[in-house]
Amino acid sequence: MRRIPYPLLQTWKSIIHTTPSPFLLSLPKLELHVHLEGTLSPTLRFTLARRNHIPLTSARLNKTFTSVEELQEAYQLLEPPSVKGPGVSAFFEAYYGGMECLREERDFYELSMEYFARASGMGVRYCEVMFDPQAHTRRGIPIPVLMSGLRRAQLEAEEKLNVKVQFIMCILRDAPLSSALQHYESTALPYRHMIAGIGLDSNEFQHPPSLFAPLFARARRDGFKTTAHSDVAQPDAHVHLKQILTEPLQLDRVDHGLDAAVSLELIELIKGRGEGFGMTICPWAYVRHCTEEELFGGVRRLWDAGVRISVSSDSPAYVESNYVVENLALLKMKGGFSDEELVQCQRNAVEMCWASGEVKKELLKEIEKFWEGWKRDLGGSLML
Ligand SMILES: [Zn+2]
Repeated sequence: MRRIPYPLLQTWKSIIHTTPSPFLLSLPKLELHVHLEGTLSPTLRFTLARRNHIPLTSARLNKTFTSVEELQEAYQLLEPPSVKGPGVSAFFEAYYGGMECLREERDFYELSMEYFARASGMGVRYCEVMFDPQAHTRRGIPIPVLMSGLRRAQLEAEEKLNVKVQFIMCILRDAPLSSALQHYESTALPYRHMIAGIGLDSNEFQHPPSLFAPLFARARRDGFKTTAHSDVAQPDAHVHLKQILTEPLQLDRVDHGLDAAVSLELIELIKGRGEGFGMTICPWAYVRHCTEEELFGGVRRLWDAGVRISVSSDSPAYVESNYVVENLALLKMKGGFSDEELVQCQRNAVEMCWASGEVKKELLKEIEKFWEGWKRDLGGSLML
C-alpha cells in the first residue's frame, strides 16, 4: 500500500475549501488540540518579522524569504517527505523556525487573536489551546511577556468573540526533565488561572512519556489535567500509548494515537479508562504519513469500537491551512462520517474537555439546540 499522493490531497483540499459545508460551519464546535504556534499564518509571520527586524530564512531550503508569496510557497507542507530533502523535518523547521518572529507581548496577543477570530468565524465556542513555553524562553523571551499576550487575548476572545479559551502548557519532550520541571514552576503554577492541563509534544523519537513521570505526578497532585502526544507512524507508538494509558502515568487524554486502531489491547485499555477519556484526532495532520486505509479505516475502527474521539486541527497553518472545520469535512468526505456522527464528535469533546460543569452544560445545550433545529429545517425542506 502506498501513501496518499500529493495531487490527490490537493484535490480533496480544493473541494473542501471551495464548497464549505453550511452544516459544519454552523455546528457549534470545540477544539481540544490546537497549537497556538501552529496557527501562525505566513502573512502574520511576515508582518511580525518585518516589525521586529527578524530575517526570514530556511536552512532546509537554503533560502531567505523576501515576500509573503515566497513564504507561502514554503508552507506547502503536505508534500511527501521525499520532496523535502533527507534528514530534515520540514514540519519542525517551519514550526519552530516560525516562532522566531514572536518577540513582544503584542506579537503573542496578535497571534492568539488571529486564531480566536478565525475560530469564532468557524463556530468554535470553546477551545483548549496548547503552547510551548520552552520554545520561547530558550529564545530569551520572558514568561510574563508570553503569558500577558495570551491572557489579554483570552479575555477578549470570551468577551467579544463568544469563544471560551483555556490553555494547555506543553512540555518539549526532546528537552530534559529538569527544564520541564523548571517551566512547570515558572509558568504552570503562577498562571494556573489560565492553564487547565499539562501536555507533551515535540519530537517523540526516543523520548517516551515515561521520561516525564515526575512532572505528570506533580501536575496531577496539583490538580492539573494531563495529556501527551502519540503521533502517527512513530516507531514506538504502541509503547508510548501503553505508557499514557496505564499506571504510573495514566494520563487524562491522548493526543492523536491513531496507531491504537490496529491493537485490540490498546483499544480495550482506552475504553477501560471510562467517562471523560478520549483521543484528539486531526486527520489533515496524518494525510502525508498514512495510506487512506490506515487513516480513514483506522478512525472508523476506533469509532466503531466505542472509543471517544473529538476532531481537531493540531497545527493548521502548517498543514496547508486546514482548520477544525476542514478536518471535520475530510472525515465526512473520505471517512464516511454522517452529520449525526459529527455532532456526536462535539458531544464527545464536551465530555472530554476540561471546562467547568456549568460551561459543559451550556456547550451541550447549544449543540443540541442547533442539531434539533437543523433536523427540523432539513425535514421541512425535504417535504417541499
Ligand atoms: Zn499536536
